Amino acid sequence: MSIIPEIYRAYCSQWEAQIGAFIEMKALDPAAFPVLSPDASQGKGLGGLPFAVKDNIAVQGLSLSCGSKLLEELRSPYTATAVQKLEDAGAWVLGKTNLDEFGMGSSTDTSALKQTNNPWDTRRVAGGSSGGSAAAVAAGIVPFALGSDTGGSVRQPASFCGVLGLKPSYGAVSRYGLVAYASSLECIGILADTTARCRAVFQVIRGKDPLDQTSQDAPSASPPLYGTEPPGAPKVIGVLSAQAIAQALATLARGIEGSPETQEAAAAAALLEADVQQGFELAKTRLAALGHRLVDVAIPSLKYGVPAYYTIATAEASANLARFDGVRYGRRPAWAENPEDLIDKTREAGFGPEVKLRILLGTFVLRSGFQDRYYLRAQRIRAGIRSSFEELLGTADYGSSQAPCCDALLMPVFPTRAFGRGDAGESLSPFAQKAADLYTCCANLAGLPALAFPVGLAGGLPLGVQLLGRAFSEATLLDLVEAYEQAYPFPHPAGYQAFWP
Ligand code: GLN
Repeated sequence: MSIIPEIYRAYCSQWEAQIGAFIEMKALDPAAFPVLSPDASQGKGLGGLPFAVKDNIAVQGLSLSCGSKLLEELRSPYTATAVQKLEDAGAWVLGKTNLDEFGMGSSTDTSALKQTNNPWDTRRVAGGSSGGSAAAVAAGIVPFALGSDTGGSVRQPASFCGVLGLKPSYGAVSRYGLVAYASSLECIGILADTTARCRAVFQVIRGKDPLDQTSQDAPSASPPLYGTEPPGAPKVIGVLSAQAIAQALATLARGIEGSPETQEAAAAAALLEADVQQGFELAKTRLAALGHRLVDVAIPSLKYGVPAYYTIATAEASANLARFDGVRYGRRPAWAENPEDLIDKTREAGFGPEVKLRILLGTFVLRSGFQDRYYLRAQRIRAGIRSSFEELLGTADYGSSQAPCCDALLMPVFPTRAFGRGDAGESLSPFAQKAADLYTCCANLAGLPALAFPVGLAGGLPLGVQLLGRAFSEATLLDLVEAYEQAYPFPHPAGYQAFWP
C-alpha cells in the first residue's frame, strides 16, 4: 500500500484552505515520504501513518501556541510521551492543530490565531476545544489525531465533525507534554476515523509513565483491549432517560445564581434540540437491534455537573496559567517599568477575553474566606458524582465481587449539532456553551472513559452520542462501538477521500 505524495499533498492543501484546521503543517518532501507499512491496514498498526496533534501538546521543534497570542512564537523543546510513543510505533506528525485558547471553549473560535471551519459546512464551527484535530480527521487529512479533553473537548468536536472521540480514563494516558489547563480533570484523547484505529492508537499511548505521577497501567482485572470476546457480545447499557435529563435541566437552572432569565437561558441551552434527540433515539434503537439490553437510569447528581466543573476547572486554570508571566515563556512587552509591570503587560496583551474571564473566576472561587462556599463545595459534589457513576458502573479498583448493573451508559454529547456563524445560523453564546457542557463534563469529574461516535446526519450535519464506562474499561466501549460501526458505517463529508487502509 502506498500513497502518491503529490496527490496527498494537493488533497491536504485543498481541504486546509477551506477548513483551517492546522496552526502549523509540515512541508512534505515527496522524496522522503514515509511508506505505509502493511500492518497499517484496517487499523491494526500505525506504521507510516500521519497524525495531527492539538497545539497544546508538545512536539519537539514545532509550535506549542495553545491557540494564544502569548505563546504564538514558542517552539517546543521536547516531545510529549503520547506523541513519542506514536512516533516509536512508526506514525509521524503532520502538524499542529487549532484549538480554543488553552483549551477553553466549545467552538475553537476562542483561538487567537485563526478560525477553523467544519468540513461538513464551512460556515459552521468544528466544535472545541480540539476543533482542528476533529476537522482534520473528518476531512481525511489524517486518519487520527490527538486532542485533550478537560470537560468534553475531544468528544464534542468529534460529534460536530462526525468522527470518533475517545476520552480515556483519568491517568490512562500520560499527560507529560500536555500544557495544563485543569490538571485533575484532563486527559489526552484520540480523534479517529474508525474504531479499530482508535483502539490501535490507544493501545500505543496508554500506560504508566515515570514522567507523569498520575499515570497508571490498567488494573489487571479490567477488560483487555484485545480480548477473546467478539466485539458484538451483548451488553447491558444504561440509558439516561428523558425524565432524568428534564430533571437535571430544571435543577441546573435553579442552582444558578442570577435572574430568572439567566436561569431559563441555562436550562434552554442544555435542552437537546429535536434532531439531536432523534439521533439519541436512533442510537438506542440500533444498540437494541444489535442485541444489547437497554435499561433506563437516572443520575441524580448530573444536575450539579456544570457548576462543579466550572468551579474546579477555573480554580485549577488560575493556578496553572500563573506560569505565563512573560519571564519564562512567550511574547513579552518591549518595555516594562518593573517585574510586576512586565507580568501585567504580558498577560494583558497575551491572553484573550475567555482566558481572562476564567482566571478571574478561578481566583474568585479560591479567594480566602470563600473556599468553603465554592471550591470545597464543588469538590464534595464531585465526590458525589463519582459515587453515583460508580454505583451504576463499578469502581476503578475492580475489587468488589458484586457485578455492576451496567456495562456502559449511553448519553448525549452536546445539545446541538455544529452551530453556525453569521448567516449560517445562530451561534451559541459563551454562557450557553458552558451550560451545554452538562453531558460531557461528568466523565471528567468522575475520571471515567467516554467514547463519542457518529450515529447519522440531520440537515447534512453529523449527530453524535457517547458511551461512558467504568474506569479503565475503554475496551468495552470500543467493542460496543466497533460492532455498531460494522452494522452502521460512519459517514464522511463531500470531497472526502479514503487514503488510509
Ligand atoms: N467546553 C469546556 C470548557 O470550555 C471543555 C474544554 C475542554 O475539555 N478542554 O472548559
